[in-house]
Amino acid sequence: MNDRPWQDLLAESVTSADELCRRFPVARKTVLPVIDQYPMRINPYFLSLIREPGDPIWRQAIPDPAELEDTLPEADPLAEEAQSPVPGLIHRYPDRVVFLVSSQCALFCRHCMRKRQVGKSNAMKPGTVDNGIAYIQETPAIRDVILSGGDPFLLSDDHLIEDILKPLRGIPHVEILRIHTRIPCTLPQRITEALVRRLKAFAPLYINIQFNHPAEITPNATQACARLADAGIPLGCQTVLLKGVNDSPVVMRRLMQKLLAIRVRPYYIHQGDLVKGTGHFRTSVREGLDIMSALRGHTSGMCVPQYMIDLPGGGGKIPLLPEYVIEKRHNEWYIQTFDNRIVAYPVSNEGRRRN
Ligand SMILES: *Cc1c(COP(=O)(O)O)cnc(C)c1O
Ligand code: SF4
Repeated sequence: MNDRPWQDLLAESVTSADELCRRFPVARKTVLPVIDQYPMRINPYFLSLIREPGDPIWRQAIPDPAELEDTLPEADPLAEEAQSPVPGLIHRYPDRVVFLVSSQCALFCRHCMRKRQVGKSNAMKPGTVDNGIAYIQETPAIRDVILSGGDPFLLSDDHLIEDILKPLRGIPHVEILRIHTRIPCTLPQRITEALVRRLKAFAPLYINIQFNHPAEITPNATQACARLADAGIPLGCQTVLLKGVNDSPVVMRRLMQKLLAIRVRPYYIHQGDLVKGTGHFRTSVREGLDIMSALRGHTSGMCVPQYMIDLPGGGGKIPLLPEYVIEKRHNEWYIQTFDNRIVAYPVSNEGRRRN
């Protein structure tokens, strides 16, 4: 199964309540209203990673009635739509944009921050690609373009390369291209040799992947990442902190170590956004900080990402760090080590000058 063409695997995805109920002990009447609001798609590769009901793979893939009972009110708390000068292009920061070029994915993640849009047939306005490219062309301040969605790798090779990557590469002020994707994790068969050969031409092109659990680092995922890395494409990971999936220092540390071993550099751990329909995945910020304390010093610094919260209203991403500075005196700070000792550090040289 795991070496079949990705198009066949995608076509065999579980998308209806009846198919889901045939495979798993879930009630049709609890699934139907959920997938009516937020579509389901579970391709057979990702489905094969489920070991038992409620496990970390299950929680990311199987619709949960809690999605409809959520008390979080906002479908778009980060004000992405208000910060879109043209549909599908979010321009929040001075020099970079997020360009939503697809509304389709190989898995509709139950925790998706764009669940208001993904998988919905009307999510992509006609002309999105052309209007987005025209805006980028007319805006010389943009030097970094992030293709996202949905998943850009759900587009055909030709459409992604000829209609999107090539025109963007032709714009002189666009220095950096990035693709944000879950494909190497959710349907690694999509990373074909033919695709990688064509992507190679667009350097500097960075690919950031969302892996959320060590069980996602399979032989197939490892091969997909190896192909990309062998083509000289730097890989990063943007993990989402999710209750019941990876909200534990032991699980998160193992994930970060395994990512580094497949040449994927952990970039961000995201605090879950306040998106309607995802409240059952939310952890406290304290738990996120505890995970960061359990990484720094305890394992390779190369696999310690930054812990980010994305502020409501479009305030942007801000990194949070555990409090390492315990006390600030006049010219000495008391700093906590990773193994909980306190060490004094001279922060100014006033003392020295007086001597
Ligand atoms: C996350 C994000 C970016 C990219 O942020 P980096 O910190 O540069 O990775 C750009 N624009 C928007 C709207 C984003 O949400
Ligand atoms: S792959 Fe990304 S965009 Fe698609 S459903 Fe999952 S989190 Fe959302």
